[in-house]
Amino acid sequence: MADFYNQLGVSRDADADTLKRAYRRLARQYHPDINKETGAEERFKEISRAYEVLGDPEKRARYDQFGEAGLGGSAGMPDMGDMGGFADIFETFFGGAAGAGSRKQRRGPQQGDDLRYDLTIDFNQAVFGEEKEIKIPHLETCDGCRGSGAKPGSGPTNCSTCGGAGQVRRATRTPFGSFTQVSDCPSCGGAGQMISDPCPKCGGQGVKQVRKKLRINIPPGVDTGTRLRVSGEGNAGDRGGPSGDLYVFLKVKSHPRLKREGLNIHSEVNVSYLQAILGDIIEVDTVDGPTRLEIPSGTQPSEVLILDNKGIPKLGNPVARGNHCIAVKIKIPSRLSEEEKTLLEKLASHYSAKGPQNHHHKSGLFNRLFNMKDT
Ligand SMILES: [Zn+2]
Ligand SMILES: [Zn+2]
Repeated sequence: MADFYNQLGVSRDADADTLKRAYRRLARQYHPDINKETGAEERFKEISRAYEVLGDPEKRARYDQFGEAGLGGSAGMPDMGDMGGFADIFETFFGGAAGAGSRKQRRGPQQGDDLRYDLTIDFNQAVFGEEKEIKIPHLETCDGCRGSGAKPGSGPTNCSTCGGAGQVRRATRTPFGSFTQVSDCPSCGGAGQMISDPCPKCGGQGVKQVRKKLRINIPPGVDTGTRLRVSGEGNAGDRGGPSGDLYVFLKVKSHPRLKREGLNIHSEVNVSYLQAILGDIIEVDTVDGPTRLEIPSGTQPSEVLILDNKGIPKLGNPVARGNHCIAVKIKIPSRLSEEEKTLLEKLASHYSAKGPQNHHHKSGLFNRLFNMKDT
């Protein structure tokens, strides 16, 4: 195995300045941008690696004691006695769980988990809002022990394993020294307290699973993806900690005839060619129920008629509503009765004889047909 000191061409007792100067000189000499000789790049990497170690006092100390094996670090190495602590090796060994000071504080009551509940509602319920009853399974604080888990009259006692600290220290010996590993106490799980006399209602858990009926107030204007927060209806916290929240995720069923686009509702209506030509008043389906819609005379195929304020209420401001947009589909009859045919033929001959521009003498049906410009 190559020796880092040899690679940098310095003695084992070289000081930091000597190391740095040696590294800079060699790095300039072998830098791949400057030196195109074969092996130069390899050499440059060796020099860099050597200086990376020797330039760092801690790494250098480890290298001096253990050679390159002291740098990578692996947990299963033979015990070589107490060599003093190296925090960064410790972290490599134990996944960064080293300094006790950096540990998340786990003692004391903790807030309970938030819960999610998926709720499907009808199109119209989403439009106008609704109060809905749901049943949710969640954890509630045990009323027998008020969350402590201890039988009423008794109380939790300090954990005998950790003496109430919630954490245990374990000395671990490695080739680089013996370290103190701090972890959650296995007996009390970090709580620092034990229940010697558990509450019979909850078995010492402090919480119990309950199916709770809740009335959810769905505001007008919600849509698929709207999330309602019900404060404090999540799981109860540990050891009497505050409850989490319940989030109700809404899914809105589609409507067979009405389509929602933002705050507007879209639908189609079929009218006869006569209704389109002559105009009519019909009833259409809206979220407010059957509503009168005026088909103006001369309505064109696919023309969109608007019913103001019959759309979706704005979430949070239900007074503001979108519109209901109705696309008119005009049916052309594929079969005509004899009477209808006679009338239409009469109309057609009349139309071609007089022409649409010369329509001042029309009467009856023709008048209504061609009087659009006159009125
Ligand atoms: Zn209990
Ligand atoms: Zn303990």
